[in-house]
Amino acid sequence: VSTPSDGSQTLDFDAVVLGAGPAGEVCAARLAQAGMSIALVERDLVGGECAFFACMPSKALLRPGQVLAEAGRVAGAREAITGPLDVGSVLARRDQIVHGLDDAAQLPRLAKRSITLIRGHGRLAGERTVVVGARLLRAATAVVVATGSVAALPSVPGLAEAHPWTNRRSTTAERVPETLLVLGGGTVGVELASAYASLGASVTLLEAGERLIAAEEPFASELVREGLERDGVRVLLGTIVRRVAARQPGGPARAECADGSIVQADEMLLASGRRPLTDDIGLDSVGVTAGGYIEVGPTMQVPGHEWLYVVGDANGRALLTHVAKQQARIAAAEIAGSPLPSGPDVVPRVIFSEPQVAAVGHTSVTAKGVGREARLVTAEIESVAGASFVGHGAGGRAALLIEGDRLIGATFVGVEVAEWLHAATIAIVGEVPLAQLSYAVPSFPTRSEVWLALLDAAGTG
Ligand SMILES: Cc1cc2nc3c(=O)[nH]c(=O)nc-3n(C[C@H](O)[C@H](O)[C@H](O)COP(=O)(O)OP(=O)(O)OC[C@H]3O[C@@H](n4cnc5c(N)ncnc54)[C@H](O)[C@@H]3O)c2cc1C
Repeated sequence: VSTPSDGSQTLDFDAVVLGAGPAGEVCAARLAQAGMSIALVERDLVGGECAFFACMPSKALLRPGQVLAEAGRVAGAREAITGPLDVGSVLARRDQIVHGLDDAAQLPRLAKRSITLIRGHGRLAGERTVVVGARLLRAATAVVVATGSVAALPSVPGLAEAHPWTNRRSTTAERVPETLLVLGGGTVGVELASAYASLGASVTLLEAGERLIAAEEPFASELVREGLERDGVRVLLGTIVRRVAARQPGGPARAECADGSIVQADEMLLASGRRPLTDDIGLDSVGVTAGGYIEVGPTMQVPGHEWLYVVGDANGRALLTHVAKQQARIAAAEIAGSPLPSGPDVVPRVIFSEPQVAAVGHTSVTAKGVGREARLVTAEIESVAGASFVGHGAGGRAALLIEGDRLIGATFVGVEVAEWLHAATIAIVGEVPLAQLSYAVPSFPTRSEVWLALLDAAGTG
C-alpha cells in the first residue's frame, strides 16, 4: 500500500473484480480459492440485484400465492383455508429473505477467503487499473467487470416523469397498490403481475408483442396467459404505449395506447427489458465502447484485451443468475491459469409464474431459426397418476424437442415444475440417446412419469 500526502492510496492485487452481484462474488471467491489476492468493488449491496431486488424477493412474493392455490386444489387442505393471503406476513417474510436490505450476512464469506471488499463506485483508469474514490487499485493479472444491469427505460414520452416502479421498487414495496399496470410481458412482467395479483392487486399487463414470454414455446405463452387471466390479470397483447400522461403527486398513472385506449392504475411497473451498467465504468480509458453489452469470447475475455473479462448481465449473453455464476467460474479458471474444458452452452430457464415455465436448450422457434431439424413431442401433465396429488385440476403440458435420437430442448409448464428442469438439462448436456433415456424409469406415482408419455409420443417408449 502506498499513501501519498494527498490522501490517495495505491493498492496492489492479483485481480480486481468490479461489482459484487452473483457474477462478481463467485468470480472473486474462485480466484481467492486459487490463491490470488482479490479486491472486490461494490457501490451498493454485496449480493447484487439478484439477492436484494430481483430473484430472491420476487420469489418470496410469488411463493405464498402458489402455496395457497395448491392448497385450494387439494380437498381436505382446501377446507382449512380461512381467507386470502396475509399481505403483511408475505411482505415481512420477503424482508427476512432480503435481510432487510442489509448485506452484513454476505461479508463473513468474503472475509473467510481474505477478499478485500472496497465500497464505492469503481471505474477503469487504463489497463489493469481501477479507481474507487481516492483509491487506485492495480491488478497484476486481470480486471473482471461484473456490474450487472438495471431496468431499461423505453423512450415513451412522459414515462420517466411518471416515476414508474422498476424491479427495485416493486420487489421492495411496503404496500400493495389497489391497481397496478405492468408494462412488458417477459419473465419479469409475468412474474410480478402474478405476484401482485396473488397479493390482491387488480393487475393489467400490457405487452406490445402478440404473445407473452416470447422467448419460450408458443404453448407456454398461451398457458401462462390463461393462468394469469384465471388469477384475474387483464392481459392486453399487441398493445403499444404511445405516451404516459402527466401525473399528479400521489395520483394514478395513465398510459395512452396506440389504439387510442387509456389504461390507468395506482402504480405503473416497468418490465420492458434491461440496460447494462457499462456506461460509467471507464471503458473509454481502455478503448472499449461504453454503454452497451460488452462482447466477450468463450472464456469471457474481451477480444484484444487479454487482462479484461466481463461476466454476468454486463455481457448480455443470458440475463440469469446461474448463467452469471457459470461464466464467473469459467473466467476465474482461465485467469487462475487452470482453464475449464469447454462444454455445451445450454441455458436452463425458469419463469416462476402460475403456472411455472421450466425450459432448457432450444425451443421449436429457436431451433428452426438456426436450421436445426427438430420435432416437438408433447404430453399433458394430468395424463399421469402423480398429477392426482400435485397440481390436480391445474393442467400443464410437457414437451421435448428432439433432433435425431437426442434432446435439444425441453419445456415443462405446470404447477411446481421448476425442480423438474435439471433432469432435462442433464439429458441434453450429457447427450443421452432417447433409447437410453427410456431406462431412466421415473418413480410411481410422481409426475415425472410424464417422461414416459413423452418418450411414447417420440416413438421410443
Ligand atoms: C425482477 C427480477 C427477477 C429475477 N429473477 C431471476 C431468477 O429467479 N433467476 C435468475 O436466474 N435470474 C433472475 N433475474 C436475473 C438476475 O437478477 C440477473 O441475471 C443477475 O442479478 C445478474 O448478476 P450480475 O452479478 O451480473 O449482476 P447484478 O446482480 O446486477 O450485480 C451487479 C453489482 O455490481 C454493482 N455495480 C455496478 N456498477 C458498479 C460500479 N461501477 N462500481 C461498483 N459496483 C458496481 C451493483 O451495485 C451490483 O451490486 C431476475 C431479474 C429481475 C429484474
